[in-house]
Formats: sequence, structure tokens, C-alpha cells
Amino acid sequence: MTSLFREDLSSIPAYVPGRTIPGAIKIASNEVTDGPDKVVLDAVMAAVGGCNRYPDTSSTELRAAIANALNRDLQAQNMSTDSHIAPTQIVVGNGSVSLLQHLIQATCPAGANVVMAWRSFEAYPIMGHVAQANLVQVPNLPNGKHDLGTMAEAAQDPNTGIVLLCNPNNPTGETFSHTDLVEFLQKVPSTVLVALDEAYYHYNRLGTFPHSMELLSAYPNLVVLRTFSKAYGLAGLRVGYLVGSEETCRELSKVVIPFATGLAAQAAAVAALTLRDQLLARTDTIVEERQRVTQALRTIGFEVHNSEANFVWLPRTDAQQLTDYLTEQKVLVRGFVGDGVRVTISTRAENDQFLDAIAGYPAI
Ligand SMILES: *Cc1c(COP(=O)(O)O)cnc(C)c1O
Repeated sequence: MTSLFREDLSSIPAYVPGRTIPGAIKIASNEVTDGPDKVVLDAVMAAVGGCNRYPDTSSTELRAAIANALNRDLQAQNMSTDSHIAPTQIVVGNGSVSLLQHLIQATCPAGANVVMAWRSFEAYPIMGHVAQANLVQVPNLPNGKHDLGTMAEAAQDPNTGIVLLCNPNNPTGETFSHTDLVEFLQKVPSTVLVALDEAYYHYNRLGTFPHSMELLSAYPNLVVLRTFSKAYGLAGLRVGYLVGSEETCRELSKVVIPFATGLAAQAAAVAALTLRDQLLARTDTIVEERQRVTQALRTIGFEVHNSEANFVWLPRTDAQQLTDYLTEQKVLVRGFVGDGVRVTISTRAENDQFLDAIAGYPAI
């Protein structure tokens, strides 16, 4: 060894977190603007009273509550009991991103292919690099959607360890449908794990959205990831989960760090699920504002993708300049150099502040 750290570490880009500047509005990290409900806070306080003890490493109560919620959804969609989700098909983690990292570790020996769409979530390539995997980044279609046909072809390579799908896609906000997903799963070898990241699931209002939970029994190589960070508003507590086959959950549990999900996070998520209807109703307001912001931007000449998430995407080769300009106006957004700018949909007042600021920048 010629240095303290792995040689390849120097080539791994650091994750760029959304910035915070006093006096500026932060619409850079797809967070919920409202603070937590009192029911959630009380549950956290009660749980913290027992923090001299380790948390339940298998998140038993939370997994049961998640299974309940998912099964209620399946029932509402009149699905047969084949689709019923058992708590043993759920793994809880310190944010869904940590579960993704573990999935890559569990499926990819060094040098194996991680197939992903690009541009997609900026954490994916970092996690692939850390696992010493080989990144296969399939460019999105010009409309910002995953090129599922090319991704399925890439998955045929016997060196493939895992395929990452993001729907709705961060940062383009674009989606694929249930039929698209089924067609994709039919083409991918059953020996390749497909991780479907549904962090923004609750904001998708297209009738064609994938009913992913219904596909788990037919496709044991499918896993679905969801999070409490977005629609449930618990980003600061770090809790997410995945749903898959019992075998996947068993194997994955071997690489999950013991006690990764803290007491407060588990208690908050259980409490949030008791407020589920009320918390998810807030997504309706975000969806309305998403429409309004998209229209307003198009009216003043900006190109904006069709987003089904809690953000909008402006493809821009001048992403850096636009981001810097908005920062000067005390509006913090997420720019991806040379590619585009992602803007989180917030309260009406903050969205207006953003629209006022961007109106002073040339649309074309
Ligand atoms: C925000 C986000 C997540 C959620 O990550 P957590 O670790 O659960 O906070 C996962 N995937 C994507 C694409 C995201 O944008």
C-alpha cells in the first residue's frame, strides 16, 4: 500500500448535499417544507426516553405497520391475496439509500456491472464506485425517461449484478408505466436483481403508474424501495425500507449494519403511518403547485419536463449560471453542471419567490 486509502477513492466524486444559507429559501433537496406533526414528535420523545438500550435491530413493529399499510393499498386495488405482503418481505434501513448500498454489496462482486439510467439519482454512481462495481450508465431518452429497452439489453451481460430503476426519476421527474415495467421484467434474466427506487411514488398521479407491489410474487428478482424521507416528511431521522422476496430479505439482512435504524426513527415512522391518510393528503397540494409552477415556467419560455415527483427539472446547458443567479436571489436550487436544474416544489409562497427570481433570468 502506498497511501492510507484505496487508490480508486480519489476518483469517487463526493455527494453534494443541498446548501443552506441564512435568509435563503432551500428548495434543493426535495424535502417537505412543513415540520412534523405533534403525534410524531410525541412518539419520538417517548422513544428517546429508552435510548440507553439498543433499538430493535429487526424493526419488528415498524415492519408490521408497513406491511399493514401496503396490504391496505393492495386491498383497495382489489388484488388477490397472492399479492399479500408479509413482514418477512420487508427490510428497514437507515434511509433507503443505505439499503441500496447494501443491495449493491450483496449482489455485486468487485467488477460486476451496475446498470442504471443516466441522468438519475446522483448517489447511484457513488455507491457503485464504493462497491468497486463497474457502472453501466444508459442515457435517458431525449424526453428524460429511462431507456428501458436498452437497459434490458444491458442486463443480458452475464457480468450484471444489479439494475437500478428510479420511478419517478430523480432529477428529471419523468416516469414509466406499469406495462413498461412488466415488459422490462420479462426481458431481464431472473438471476439479475432489479431494484426499483420509488422514493417519489406518492407524487405520481398518472393512472398508468406501476403497481409494483403486485409484481413481487411473479418476479422474485424485483425489490421495491420506499422512504419516509419524502412524502412522510421524516428526512432528518433517516428511515426507509425495501420490499422483496423473503430470500432477498434474508440475504440482504446479512450485509445490513446491526442496529442501523435508530429508536427515534423507528418510532417516528410507526407514528407517521398512523397519520398516513393525513400526511399523504399533503401530496395533493404539492401536485397542484407542481402544475402551477410548470405552467408558469413554460409561460415565460422555460423548457420544463413533465414531473410526477415533488420537484421540476429544467434542462439547461447553463445550469451552473442559473443556479448561481438564483442563489444570489436567495433561492437555493440543485444544479447539475451542463445538464439541468432541479427545483423542489414547496409552499405557494416559496414557489412564488422562486418564480419571481427566475423571471429575471433569460429563458433561452
Ligand atoms: C430522496 C431519495 C431517496 C431517499 O433516500 P433516504 O435515504 O431514504 O432519505 C431515495 N432515492 C431517491 C432517488 C431519492 O431522490
